[in-house]
Amino acid sequence: MEKRELLYTGKAKSVYTTDEADYLILVFRDDTSAFDGKRIEQLARKGRVNNAFNAFIMQKLAEAGIETHFERLLNPNEVVVKKLNMIPVECVVRNYAAGSLVRRLGVTEGLELNPPTFELFLKNDALGDPMINESHAKSFGWATEEQLARMKELSFQVNNVLKELFAAGNMLLVDFKLEFGEFHDRIILGDEFSPDGCRLWDKETRKKLDKDRFRQGLGDVVEAYEEVGHRLGITF
Ligand code: ADP
Ligand code: UDP
Repeated sequence: MEKRELLYTGKAKSVYTTDEADYLILVFRDDTSAFDGKRIEQLARKGRVNNAFNAFIMQKLAEAGIETHFERLLNPNEVVVKKLNMIPVECVVRNYAAGSLVRRLGVTEGLELNPPTFELFLKNDALGDPMINESHAKSFGWATEEQLARMKELSFQVNNVLKELFAAGNMLLVDFKLEFGEFHDRIILGDEFSPDGCRLWDKETRKKLDKDRFRQGLGDVVEAYEEVGHRLGITF
């Protein structure tokens, strides 16, 4: 498969068309952003670590019967995926309170959420990815009722699979963000699942092993991602 045109340069990945209309190549770069792209730094090895990490997770989800856009790894920084018509809504599942939930509701970080919560955010950097509800998504045409129901169902399925997977590596899956898209009338999981888009804590010490290390200036960002990978049996 060959790269053709650069379709889009995102904050962490570049998206290329290919010689096959139904497939894209995603290039995972070392760029790391926070605060809606207001802070960007290059972190050595991050692109390849996230590409390998994402491939591992997407394959685990596929094994559990959850359809994803992942096709195959092309090289350390590149992956072939199905070309989706992306739904511009980010789906966030939370098992423990952290991040914007703590800021918004004033609850204590680490509070266990039972049942887990499900939230929607509009994918719009200029507006700082505002939180929206289903009514907004439907009225503004961002997603239909059926798409919203399916995205919610799939998000909780992903949570069930991954909570167990990370627990086996002695980690808590605190929260995560998913993006979905349409592929020939089916809603399937797109984008990436990596420590850039989720929160993972060591179960005993609650050491942060995700992008909060970058957001909060804790250091050893990629080292933490690699540690998570090693606990899951990923070789980088
Ligand atoms: P951002 O757009 O938030 O800066 P990235 O740097 O990760 O994020 O860019 C990747 C872009 O590719 C995102 O806009 C994402 O929605 C889009 N994308 C991810 N997977 C697919 C796919 N399978 N088909 C089409 N677009 C995709
Ligand atoms: N997240 C993400 N991209 C975004 C916003 C959030 O991947 O544009 C992830 C984030 O890493 C965390 C979860 O979604 O795992 C919930 O994020 P939150 O709403 O707490 O926002 P933040 O604290 O990151 O501003």
